[in-house]
Order: sequence, then C-alpha cells, then structure tokens
Amino acid sequence: MADVKYVFVTGGVTSSLGKGIISASLAKLLQSRGYSVTIQKLDPYINVDPGTLNPYEHGECYVTLDGAETDLDLGHYERFLNVPTSQANNVTTGRIYQSVINKERKGDYLGKTVQVIPHITDEIKRRIKLVGSGNKFDIVITEIGGTVGDIESLPYIESVRQLKWELGTHNVIVIHLTLVPYLSSTGESKTKPTQHSVKELLETGIQPDVLVLRTEKNLSDELKRKVALFCNVEENAVVQSVDVSTIYEVPIKMLEQGLDKTVLRKLALPVDAEPPMIEWRRFLSKLKNPKHSVTVGLVGKYVELPDAYKSIAESFIHSGASNECEVNVRYIHSEDITEENVNSILGGLNGVLVAPGFGSRGIEGKILTAKYARENNVPFLGICLGMQCAVIEFARNVLKLEGAHSTEINHKTKYPVIDLMEEQKSVIDKGGTMRLGGYKCIIDENSLAYKAYGVTEIIERHRHRYEFNDKYFNEFRNHGMVPVGINPDSNLVEIIEITDHIWFVGVQFHPEYSSTVIKPHPLFVSFIKACIK
Ligand code: GLN
Repeated sequence: MADVKYVFVTGGVTSSLGKGIISASLAKLLQSRGYSVTIQKLDPYINVDPGTLNPYEHGECYVTLDGAETDLDLGHYERFLNVPTSQANNVTTGRIYQSVINKERKGDYLGKTVQVIPHITDEIKRRIKLVGSGNKFDIVITEIGGTVGDIESLPYIESVRQLKWELGTHNVIVIHLTLVPYLSSTGESKTKPTQHSVKELLETGIQPDVLVLRTEKNLSDELKRKVALFCNVEENAVVQSVDVSTIYEVPIKMLEQGLDKTVLRKLALPVDAEPPMIEWRRFLSKLKNPKHSVTVGLVGKYVELPDAYKSIAESFIHSGASNECEVNVRYIHSEDITEENVNSILGGLNGVLVAPGFGSRGIEGKILTAKYARENNVPFLGICLGMQCAVIEFARNVLKLEGAHSTEINHKTKYPVIDLMEEQKSVIDKGGTMRLGGYKCIIDENSLAYKAYGVTEIIERHRHRYEFNDKYFNEFRNHGMVPVGINPDSNLVEIIEITDHIWFVGVQFHPEYSSTVIKPHPLFVSFIKACIK
C-alpha cells in the first residue's frame, strides 16, 4: 500500500453545515472496514487554541487526553471513533504563524523573506503530514474549518492543492460539502449555490472529487445528476446529507449511499464487503426505542448556546441509550435561579447537573441548585465548577462556615473551601496554563463512583485552576460530604460524594470529554440510572 492517504473535507455556501459530522461519519465507516483512521481539524482563526475563547464565540472548548484545548469537533471525532485525539489533531492559524515566527526569530530561514507561500503553506503541510506520520494510520481525514472563499481559509486551500499535486490524485482527495436550499414558495431544491461554491474552489485550483449536498428534503436522482454534470464530478460521487433526527444516524445514511466505497475507490484502496455496523445499529435502536424517560436540568450560564455544553449533551445521549432511557435535557440559566423560585424552577426534574464554568456570573444560582438537590434527595452531578459549587454550598449550610467561597470568586473569603492550586499561583498567562488533560485518580471502594466505574484507578481529563482546599478535608468528611477520589501524586481531591443521599457526586474532572457511543461514560450511566429510580 502507498503511504498514508489523505481526505480533505471543505465546506461551501455557508458555515455550520456539519463538516465535522460528515468527517466523523466517513471515518467511522472506514474504521468499520478495518482501516485505521484519524481526523484532524484546521481552524482558520488566529487564536493559538480555542482555550481563550468565550464559549459564546465558538461553543465548548474540548480537551484531549494529552491536555490540548481544542475545537469541539474533536469531541465528535472521539465520540464516533472511540479513539483518543491529541494536540496534533487540531491546528489553528495562530499556531501555524507562531511556529513560523519562532523559526524566523531563530534564524532558520537563512535570510530569506518569510511569506505566506511557501513558508506558511509549508508549515500547514507539515502539520497535516505530522498526524499521518509514524505508521499509525492508513487514512487521515482533515477538515478545513470555515467556508471556501473566506480570506483566512486561502492558505489552507492552497496547501491542499499543493499536496494533491505532490502526492498524486490517488493519495489525496477532496470532499466538498455544500448546501442545497429548498424554496418552499416554488417547491424546488436549488443547485446554483453549490455550482458557485464549486466554481470558487476551482478558482483556487481544486477540483472536488466528491460532493456532499446538505439538504432538508430528499434530492431526486435527476438533480444529483445535474450537480454532477455541472460540477464535473462522477454521478455516484454526489451524495446527499438530509437532515436527520440524530447525528448518529449520519454514518448509516452515508453507508446507504456508498460514500465510503466511493472514497476507497478514489484512493485506490480495496473495497471489501460492506461493514455491518452491528454495535452502532444496536445503539441507534436503543436510542430510538426507549423504555424510560427522564428530564434532567442542566444548570449553567451559557445555556443560550447549547453548543457550549456539547459534550455533556452527547454524554446524556450515550448514557440514555445504554439505559434505554430518553433523556430530556432542560437548559436552565443559573442567573435565573433565586431562593424564592428555586423550588419551582427545579421541581419535577429527575436529576440536576451543574455545569463547568468560570467567574462569578450565575454562581449563586449554581450553589442554590446544589442545595436544592442535597435537601430534596434529587440525583446531582456537579462537574468541575459544578463540584466546587456543591462544596461551597455544603460548607455554608451544613458546616455553617458563613460566607464560604472559592477564592476565584471572592479572594477575601474567611473560608476558602475552594482555592487556587499551588502550581497556579505564579501563573500569569491565560492560554494553555490550566491543569489540563489526563490525571490519575484513586477511588474509594465504598463509593458510588466505584460502583459506576468498577475499578479503583481511573484517568480523567481536567481543565481548571482551583481545587478543593485540603485544610477542610476532615471537617467535610465528618459531616457526610466525603472525598472519595484522590489524585495519588498530588493528593488533589477529584471526587466528592454525599453519603446520606440517593446519588450526589461532584467531580473536579470532565467525564463528558470521554463518553463515546460505544463506551458511554460510567458516571453518566450511573447518574441516569439514579434519575430513572
Ligand atoms: N473555574 C473553575 C476553576 O478554574 C472551574 C473550571 C471548570 O469548570 N472547567 O477551577
């Protein structure tokens, strides 16, 4: 076999067409056929990573096991493929320029004028080939963020053109995803935006090999033939992506249209028998035929934009299906919750989850939510800031430490039950400086967490600066909020539970980053079980 094969996924007409889902679906199908596949996302913005972005800007910041703060599409890649991604799987324009400028300062360019072509494009190509290096993968799928025609995407598109030329058409193909809008007034699906978008791509020297047409309505064969003819693409390389009720149906829709076969053929790779996708179909069937139904409140401060909690929402889908339970998520703004209305807002929910977050906005609503769950014996899962809020609430109302707080919010509090980690005290820069990525945790066998995981040693992903303040360890434990998960190297508290409660768990780490279709996260599975009860 030739070396690694590369598939590029570009988008046209508009953003948010679901390039990430198409990339992940194709990868899933190729993986089911026995190929080892990875997916990379190239993001055209100038931030070095999305870690410094407000979730309102760009949705959730996803964290990899190796501690990279990345685009939320990497979450989809992991959820579909059940294979961890890494720093190399997400590259931004900021990171590209940073490396080139660092090299320039070191004098590596030997007096040359440093330019977009070839220096920036060379660095882009190096980053693409880097994921493919080391014989780990047969196929690398690289999703180019943004829309063809954007000024900031140009160097990426040019790099793809060069790679196609350098490695040959059987080693590099381009899938272009566009929109076919439906005009209800005339009852027609229109292909012109797609034709224009392909023309735009052609102007940069790239002839797409496959077209995926995102559409609300089924497209006729005649329409697809027309697109094929005018866009110079084989007829069977025009595939539709009709809106579906769940993103997890997309791989099956692509399989039905043979997208994976077309791709393999174009890459001159053998096409064997169709993958049966048994586990995947079993998951879909459970998802669509639930025996139970629960409503869970997700209390956070970015709820206007559900993408801000993407991984949590997906974890509910995975753990719901595994419990054969439909999980309705009610997004609740923590700023709306007051002492007067907390019972009416949260009443009737089968469980509550307090979300991760930063800063003081909406914090008291999160603390009230923890109190409500504790006092009413409602299943509670607190993630990162959510756990910290549960600790603050317990300190104030059970330990009677009046005004207890996290020093993130009130650095003058008399009772800093959540405090800045020692190693964070000298940190000034904001980018990439939190406690990030996978760390070990040892679980007490006498805990809900142990029941969920079934093992005493786990590794979970982190993204925080503050921690449970050790000084209060015994006081909490003696009053029934027990630290049941501890990092063996740093002694940091990773999990707290309330013993006298149906299901009350707070975790300093982010279980939502590692839940996948095939392996729903055990804590979410156990939480939903408690909600059903
Ligand atoms: N703001 C808190 C901290 O930095 C929690 C972070 C989070 O929820 N991801 O520790």
